[in-house]
Amino acid sequence: MALVLSGRKYSRVVKASLRQRVDELQGQLPGLTVIIVGENPASKVYVAAKEKACIKVGFNSNVISLPAEVTQSEILALIDKLNADDSVHGILVQLPLPEHISTDLIAAAVLPEKDVDGFHPVNVGRLWRGEQGLFPCTPSGIVSLLHHHDIPLTGKNALIVGRSNIVGKPMAALLLRENCTVTIAHSRTVDLKQRCAEADILVVAVGRAEMIKKDWVKPGAVVVDVGMNRRSDGRLVGDVDYDDVSPVCSAITPVPGGVGPLTIAFLLENTFKARNSLLAD
Ligand code: NDP
Repeated sequence: MALVLSGRKYSRVVKASLRQRVDELQGQLPGLTVIIVGENPASKVYVAAKEKACIKVGFNSNVISLPAEVTQSEILALIDKLNADDSVHGILVQLPLPEHISTDLIAAAVLPEKDVDGFHPVNVGRLWRGEQGLFPCTPSGIVSLLHHHDIPLTGKNALIVGRSNIVGKPMAALLLRENCTVTIAHSRTVDLKQRCAEADILVVAVGRAEMIKKDWVKPGAVVVDVGMNRRSDGRLVGDVDYDDVSPVCSAITPVPGGVGPLTIAFLLENTFKARNSLLAD
């Protein structure tokens, strides 16, 4: 039976370690400011969860809620102010933003050293160049989870299904840094099933409920399911058909309780890291 890679359990380990590191800190506590625009209910839930997690590990947390009508220049002015504020080490602008605001422009306005989402072009460049920087939370959490379980990565064939800037591409860059041989698949990939079946490490970030079945998976592969899909009966499922696939793979992340909890834990890790590098400068 496959090893269950529990992000829920591992995120507790990460948070406990952060709590301990915060307790041992001399000087400023790590400070995260989250900007939320409008009334998107899912965004509100995510932001509340981030705030709760910050407080639990002893960080300073600040949430700034702006009305949906706020202008782009007003948000940019706010970001400038936060960039210059020494008590703020991490700035996160919750996505999605209303249509009249450019997500790319906002991402590029955050100081790269405070960009705890890892979306700034400078951090994207640092990631692909193999340099130090702040990198997207979900893929960072996945690599750390694989290390935590001593899963060998060097020389393995990794296939990532999905090429978003938030998950697929940074996941590919991080696995490349781990010496995997990386392929990125997407909606135009020919013979996707065959390609999946050749992967030692299969990471799926598509957003299609249970699309990956057991005959898509190489026996003994490690399967990471990033997808979060709400079925019509209300059940949360991944992009991988867990019951079908788990008997053939060697390790697998469940949904829920797999990749999901890692994202916030690694947002906190990024904030801690940002605080330390800002204070070291
Ligand atoms: P996007 O919608 O931005 O990207 C989806 C990717 O999947 C695209 O590259 C798309 O290809 C590809 N794709 C779509 N259909 C197919 C198909 N039939 N075959 C192959 N590839 C396909 O999604 P995200 O990356 O933001 O998120 C992916 C999933 O991960 C979602 O379910 C999301 O909810 C979840 N997620 C979970 C997180 C967590 O914390 N657990 C964090 C972030 C996301 P193309 O580029 O060609 O259109």
